[in-house]
Amino acid sequence: MPEEQSKLKLLQDAILAGNIPQMVLNIISYALDVRSSDIHIEPEDNTVRIRYRVDGVLRQIVEYPHNIHPAVVSRVKIMSNLKIDEQRIPQDGRSTVTTKDNREMDLRISTLPTVRGEKIVMRIQDKSRKIPDLPELGLQGSALKFFEDALKLPNGIILTTGPTGSGKTTTMYSAMARLNKVDVNIMTIEDPVEIQMNGLNQSQVHPDIDYTFANGLRTALRQDPDIIMVGEIRDRETINIAIEASLTGHLVLSTIHTNSAVETLTRILNMGVPPFLLTASLELVIAQRLVRRLCENCKKPVQPDPEILELVKNAMDNLGSTDEIDQEKLKNLQFYGPEGCEECDGIGYKGRLGLYEIMRMNNELRKLILTGASAMEIEKAAIQNGMVTLEQIGIIKALKADTSLDEVYRVAKKMEMGPGKKSTKKKMENPEADSVEDVTESMKKEEPATEKPAKPAVSPPPKVKVEKVEQINNPAKPAPAPAPAPAPVAQTVQTEQAAQAEQAAQPAQQEQKTRQVQTAPSNAAPQVQSEGQRPLPSEN
Ligand SMILES: [Zn+2]
Repeated sequence: MPEEQSKLKLLQDAILAGNIPQMVLNIISYALDVRSSDIHIEPEDNTVRIRYRVDGVLRQIVEYPHNIHPAVVSRVKIMSNLKIDEQRIPQDGRSTVTTKDNREMDLRISTLPTVRGEKIVMRIQDKSRKIPDLPELGLQGSALKFFEDALKLPNGIILTTGPTGSGKTTTMYSAMARLNKVDVNIMTIEDPVEIQMNGLNQSQVHPDIDYTFANGLRTALRQDPDIIMVGEIRDRETINIAIEASLTGHLVLSTIHTNSAVETLTRILNMGVPPFLLTASLELVIAQRLVRRLCENCKKPVQPDPEILELVKNAMDNLGSTDEIDQEKLKNLQFYGPEGCEECDGIGYKGRLGLYEIMRMNNELRKLILTGASAMEIEKAAIQNGMVTLEQIGIIKALKADTSLDEVYRVAKKMEMGPGKKSTKKKMENPEADSVEDVTESMKKEEPATEKPAKPAVSPPPKVKVEKVEQINNPAKPAPAPAPAPAPVAQTVQTEQAAQAEQAAQPAQQEQKTRQVQTAPSNAAPQVQSEGQRPLPSEN
């Protein structure tokens, strides 16, 4: 087989040949090639489509006929030790794939019965990926300094916040890599342990047997820790123990689900934490997002809409720290956009970078929190103390031609738009204040032109680099059992509503693992691109 023949072509050939094991293998190996984080296999009316999430955005890859779908599902279930005869309930499993260069990929597989058949989502995790250092994540200037200073503290709480898939876990791991020294005991309580690091004591929660974040954190405190990382703070019990740990001399790192640094304060107060305990323990809040990087090869200068330019000017008017941008660029306001070329599969973007809004606690902010100041007042003070908001740092990255304004505002839909906006005008102590409403509100207000990725009906990102494909063509060790004959698909009544309901289904985000099975590596030995190209997974 000539090397230049792409894996996509191989996948299409396997579909045409009806070779199911080969097809499943090619689906996975092509996904690894294009740095995909999730594979979606979705039955539709007449066909089944395969989409990949690449750099945080779904891309349609290929379609195959409905009649072979049951065999594909069975094949995937065998790979991950799921029950092939159970098609009525969702199932979760996992499997590992070892690549040719001996990297272990963890596949987390979720099936969901839909009205048109079972939908499969496979999340790909590169267990051996290199952990990027903080500057490689996109941290720079005062934000980087605030973060580095906080990591040197003997005790206190450092929180990372942002929506699902904003890179929080990677940031945590990068911080852990900095802290990982022989003279400190680092305990982690995670769900799941995504990357294993030598030197850390990593523990995975099991909520089904009551080993929760809160219990894990309590236990960790009895293990003579210096630094504790808790996967997520989502309830009062966990935050209370985290505060206790901080007050008794430990550095605690965790993530929390909010939309901005200041909103995190509201969230914690709403959990019932008295303001004095919050100010006594919290040291740093990092709000983050991932934006796609413009393709170096084809980015071009663009003239943004006057409306967007207005937003840009408003945001940059109250820039608190000027260490990240030179004034010349700020005057010219020259932005760049995607074009699309062979390098980037015609998308115009390749890879991602982080936007970070870092709020460092100081006495001024503590005083404001204790006196019940509004979120807006606190944010204003934080900006005066050097915090650069997500929107501002996004614009700065766009001025540096790292990303586009469209991309910043696509992600900005989920961010608070700086002081002066209605969404931040609530009182800190108001227990009813619910962050979700505010977000939806700001989403309605700012409806930027969303960049739609190219969506070819069947296949073709133009050209894919493939190094070697022999292993794919020649599965050395066949899987334990052959794919069984396709079971009849239960396709009875199909209403429009039900069809829409399916669209909303996103099982990948539900990672409750009721059943985890570790299977031996299947015959796959897919080829993967260089390590550095997938530094930011769409995690947790
Ligand atoms: Zn390009």
